[in-house]
Amino acid sequence: RAKHAGRGKACFFDAEMDASIKARREIENELRHAITRNQLYVHYQPILDSVSSAISGYEALMRWNRPGHGTSEPSVFITIAEESGTIIQLGEWVLREACIEASRWPEPLSIAVNVSPVQFMLPNLYDRIASILQETGLAPERLELEITEAAFVRDRKATISTLMRLHELGIRIVMDDFGTGFSSLSNLRALPFDKIKVDRSFTGILEHDPAARSIVRAIIGLGHSLGIQVVTEGVETELQRQIVTNEGCQQIQGLLLGKPDIEPSVKMAARESYLAARAEPRTPAQPH
Ligand code: C2E
Ligand code: MG
Ligand code: MG
Ligand code: MG
Repeated sequence: RAKHAGRGKACFFDAEMDASIKARREIENELRHAITRNQLYVHYQPILDSVSSAISGYEALMRWNRPGHGTSEPSVFITIAEESGTIIQLGEWVLREACIEASRWPEPLSIAVNVSPVQFMLPNLYDRIASILQETGLAPERLELEITEAAFVRDRKATISTLMRLHELGIRIVMDDFGTGFSSLSNLRALPFDKIKVDRSFTGILEHDPAARSIVRAIIGLGHSLGIQVVTEGVETELQRQIVTNEGCQQIQGLLLGKPDIEPSVKMAARESYLAARAEPRTPAQPH
């Protein structure tokens, strides 16, 4: 009897597995055509100076308008794209798209683009990035590349040398999701990081968790003493903003300050035409 129940369970499990493998394969196949079918787009989230609240730049976040599924967020498709290799094309697409967009912004607004560890397996990653900058005319000083420490796991030496060259070109290198995953302090010493992003999992619990607060304080202190800028991501409340600002964090990003949204250049243009319209002399109201 127990055996029977066990077998039934196994069958149920297999059916579930089949469904998820099938769903995965569908995503994998559809993703291959997402670029040519114009289904990808980019959301931009502002990154602010924590003291002045001025916008210093935006982070590009990929979105997929998947037919029949609406807008898909990266958690649904990035891992699958990484495992199938499609992330190489997607990553190049998002970088080009973001550089074109940023080239329309007033200087010195910067653009931050996420680069997958899989992209670092390309022997010519440096050349591909350099040629996108040339093609789009964006100054390297306005580009930030966000990488996670998973990028060092496969071929540490090659990744370091690529990062060094990108940094020498003038691109800023950002360590994303710091404090999670494969974090190692020696990476901060050996690599040309310009900025550290405190992972949002710490930010979310800052108000109630003294340990999280100590960790964030330590990361900010570490950044200061190494001459590396620190940005806190995932800031959702005013109290979180105050805490990290008081600890000396220079930049903040999160839903409190602005959610990921359409191209800033579109919003900037709309705002300018609104201001222009307001500045135009109005026809005096008719007396009645
Ligand atoms: P990330 O690079 O750490 O990006 C920050 C994520 O936090 C974004 O999620 C953003 O929408 C979300 N976020 C922003 N403010 C808040 C907040 O106040 N609270 C919370 N809880 N979340 C906030 P998103 O857009 O879903 O992206 C998730 C991850 O997917 C990114 O994490 C990044 O690792 C990856 N990703 C996104 N776009 C790309 C891309 O173009 N290329 C690559 N390789 N990875 C990407
Ligand atoms: Mg990021
Ligand atoms: Mg992050
Ligand atoms: Mg992340």
